[in-house]
Amino acid sequence: MNDQTSVSHDATLTLHAGAGPREIGLPASSPPVMATSFFTHPDAVGFSANDLNEAAPHFYTRWSNPTLALLETRLAALEGGEAALSFTSGMAAISALFLDRLSSGDHLVLSNVCYAGVAELAHDILPKHGIAVTAVDASNLEAVAAAMRSNTKLVHVETPANPILRLSDIAAIAKITHAGGAELSVDATISTPLGTKPLALGADYVVHSLTKYIGGHGDALGGAVIGRQEQIAALRKGSLIHLGGSLSPFAAWLILRGLETLAPRMMMHEVNARRIEAFLADHPKVRSVFWPGSPRHPQHELAQRQMRNFSGLLAFSAKEEGGALARQLAEQLRVVSYAVSLGKTKSLLFYIPTDDVLRSSFHLEGAEARSYRDWAGDGVFRFSVGLEDPDDIIADLEQALG
Ligand code: PLP
Repeated sequence: MNDQTSVSHDATLTLHAGAGPREIGLPASSPPVMATSFFTHPDAVGFSANDLNEAAPHFYTRWSNPTLALLETRLAALEGGEAALSFTSGMAAISALFLDRLSSGDHLVLSNVCYAGVAELAHDILPKHGIAVTAVDASNLEAVAAAMRSNTKLVHVETPANPILRLSDIAAIAKITHAGGAELSVDATISTPLGTKPLALGADYVVHSLTKYIGGHGDALGGAVIGRQEQIAALRKGSLIHLGGSLSPFAAWLILRGLETLAPRMMMHEVNARRIEAFLADHPKVRSVFWPGSPRHPQHELAQRQMRNFSGLLAFSAKEEGGALARQLAEQLRVVSYAVSLGKTKSLLFYIPTDDVLRSSFHLEGAEARSYRDWAGDGVFRFSVGLEDPDDIIADLEQALG
């Protein structure tokens, strides 16, 4: 913002943070895309990333770039963090954070339900680097506390968790994490900065897939980590520059443009999700439906405490065999697309079979597998409710469900 104006409301920050008209010094109404891979003042900085300091000018776009810097400033302002760092995808952001904060001999505590790619990274790749992982039901605070070890360096939770929308109590888990001498990172992709402020609740890092609600239009991949200045500077040096997952300035520009409408989109996603949740809850073919904004959600009280916007993602399971219904919906839906991803302007629905995800991604057994099945049945329909008129979404579901 410009010097004279102090603005703290989210909707205004999505439009102005980091580039008030006076700072940008241009009559343009949208930020420039700095489509360059390098900058022509190499004498000002040493050649190695190890010589990089906060005062270093833009040098090479894998290090930093003005379009990325604007996005980072805006995200930090929205999350109430000191600094942010953008990446080429949500997975690039999360893997960079894990590899920066965890070394051989360290231990990660991870919510046992989270985006499948994160679960697979933790279960299949981190152990190859000598990092031990304990996956735990993060909705159960005693289980989180019991999972902590003397070498636990990071606790990573996703709330609401993809795909079943189970919640974790960020403030309580931050206390457990810090008592154990570790740091807490929270993936708040589904709730967005307009729903939850993990840093204010005690988290050390917030991570986002910018591909989802923040970008909002399904046209760009991106990711970000937001936290304290010192840690983000170390992450830039230790993981962004050397692992190389930098965001493209074009994608950053698309994400900045999407971010400008995040506030009205999230309001509308929530309004529509409320209508669809009520419709599904009454539908004879639906076994259960989960949306944090509904009193039917088992953790609705926590959602009310922790979320200011309940987002547009819901999950439901069917009374009949889920796979057959998924094929029927994929064939019959006309307004809603049967597709992966979430957080786009248009409605998206996708079926995730329980046996598959437990085996290939979450590796859950015994009581934890039973608890997942209690929510998801034989599979969960993840429904990213879009911005279409809710009557049209309901009519489409009605005809497709049969
Ligand atoms: N976190 C969550 C909650 C997600 O849903 C996803 C992707 O679906 C990711 C992280 C990974 O993000 P990306 O696809 O941008 O790598």
